[in-house]
Amino acid sequence: MKIALDYDKCFNLDQSFWTEVAELARFYDHEVRIVTARSPVDDALDSSRVSNLPVIYCDGIAKRFFCHWFADRTGGVNNRSWDPDVWIDDKPEGVGANSNATKEVLEKWRASTTLATVSYCRYKKGPRRSL
Ligand SMILES: [Mg+2]
Repeated sequence: MKIALDYDKCFNLDQSFWTEVAELARFYDHEVRIVTARSPVDDALDSSRVSNLPVIYCDGIAKRFFCHWFADRTGGVNNRSWDPDVWIDDKPEGVGANSNATKEVLEKWRASTTLATVSYCRYKKGPRRSL
């Protein structure tokens, strides 16, 4: 199973939790990638912020479309698809539709994103519960 995990307001809400989810998925031979509407140029994430998970930057393009046509750029013309079976996203409309964020909205978001990332990390790790 291919699992697309959004970054903003998903993965970054609790990096430790999602990292463990991704490791469990890998144990079951599933693949998790971060699929984000972010720009690879203006909003790139360093690998430590995504626990070394592969990141697909859709740059505001509808995520499903982007993953199908452009996800794997290293595989040549015949190997560009990475079509997720499962989407985990706080804005599911972004899976099927392009972002409608204006340049001004994006600039404002970029200016606030560091603060936002910090405030989203409000979930504290408590004692581990057994399943
Ligand atoms: Mg999001």
